Amino acid sequence: MPITDSHLRAVHEEVLARNPAEPEFHQAVQEVLESLAPVVARHPQYVDAAIIQRICEPERQVIFRVPWVDDAGRVRLNRGFRVQFNSALGPYKGGLRFHPSANLGIVKFLGFEQIFKNSLTGMPIGGGKGGSDFDPKGKSDREVMSFCQSFMTELHRHIGEEVDVPAGDIGVGGREIGYLFGQYKRLSNRYESGAITGKGLTWGGSLVRTEATGYGTVYFTGEMLRARGESFDGKRVVVSGSGNVAIYAIEKVHQLGGTVVACSDSSGYLVDEDGIDLELLKEVKEVRRERVSAYAEHRGRLVTGGSIWDVPCDIALPSATQNELPEAGAAALVANGCRYVAEGANMPTTPEALRVLTGAGVAFAPGKAANAGGVATSALEMQQNASRDSWTFEHTEIRLAQIMKDIHDRCATTADEYGAPGDYVVGANISGFLRVADAMVALGVI
Ligand code: NDP
Repeated sequence: MPITDSHLRAVHEEVLARNPAEPEFHQAVQEVLESLAPVVARHPQYVDAAIIQRICEPERQVIFRVPWVDDAGRVRLNRGFRVQFNSALGPYKGGLRFHPSANLGIVKFLGFEQIFKNSLTGMPIGGGKGGSDFDPKGKSDREVMSFCQSFMTELHRHIGEEVDVPAGDIGVGGREIGYLFGQYKRLSNRYESGAITGKGLTWGGSLVRTEATGYGTVYFTGEMLRARGESFDGKRVVVSGSGNVAIYAIEKVHQLGGTVVACSDSSGYLVDEDGIDLELLKEVKEVRRERVSAYAEHRGRLVTGGSIWDVPCDIALPSATQNELPEAGAAALVANGCRYVAEGANMPTTPEALRVLTGAGVAFAPGKAANAGGVATSALEMQQNASRDSWTFEHTEIRLAQIMKDIHDRCATTADEYGAPGDYVVGANISGFLRVADAMVALGVI
């Protein structure tokens, strides 16, 4: 969709010129700016205060060298990133991604999305993101620890519970968070639990944090279904990925009466018409750290070389990585009768695919709304750390479900108010933007 408003177009051109060779960041900015024309028309004060230019420019970006020693005694080298994008609402908050593809543009797209996502949760958290091109796959626990300790040796000067609070993302789960927090504790000589989230349950973690992103995505989808007089009962669901987000999305879909018939990893996709056996999937992915092919040795069938979006379903939850749902995948989903898509991952749907889905009347939830349950529960973890308390699973899950309902309703209401009924993309972008923009106006030119 072209950006029609002249102010927004000028900001967009400036972003492209100032941030060359960062296609994912450009894509994320464009998607937000496309939604903001009615906001600019209604609130000229945001133009006067250059809010949109400022929101597209990170407050701070740190890039650093991460040397570490592998099991053969060789010195290895990676690059670390932390982008502290916007702290108008609270300390920077956002995960760390360890994946060979991680670069500054990808970390910036994730940090930019995080500003609006965190705003949508209604909680006092700003937006940031970080990571490294380190690949934990195939590394021993000792090598992962060596890397994490070196990474934190630099990162620790930039974070803290009132400053910037990292968490997990792709390639960063409980093991990595443990090594990172351990090194932070050692260097700072403080047991500052609120400096990192996603911690283990015996050392400051919150119940439901592990499940929160996947569960939250399914809660959001449940609200979309409810708004249309439907439920998960009897629905066929496809979930891409088989990591943290995917596994707990599958779990919650099954609890709510749907059947997940396919999931994937970067080596291929798995079809199990009887419904994915979650215990087997968790054993393969979380305990043995193997590929989905190991699942297919017991049940279902593995397909390599095709697309998971060819599997017929009522609901699709892309939960692996950015731009994993292309135009052809969207066309296949539509042709096979899919009517709901909610993004468990960040920006998994390409702009072309989004046009196909919305053109066909598919209800679509963008990641910044649908997967906000993870960061929201991280904020609940920070609350528990600050009050030296730990809540029950039930209490925390009820909070998560309510937060996801509120985000859904906020997106739907805002879309109505700004002339785009039923458009969750517009609702999420405008609603997320307004809260940050008002805070930035109040805080002055900083
Ligand atoms: P994990 O590392 O636990 O799992 C990632 C999954 O996606 C794996 O199955 C992985 O397969 C697959 N994947 C990753 N990269 C690619 C790729 N380039 N091509 C194909 N498949 C790929 O990560 P999470 O589940 O935590 O994160 C998944 C998505 O959800 C990301 O977009 C993340 O930003 C987003 N997200 C995560 C949150 C969280 O709380 N964890 C919060 C909000 C959003 P393989 O193992 O083969 O690489």
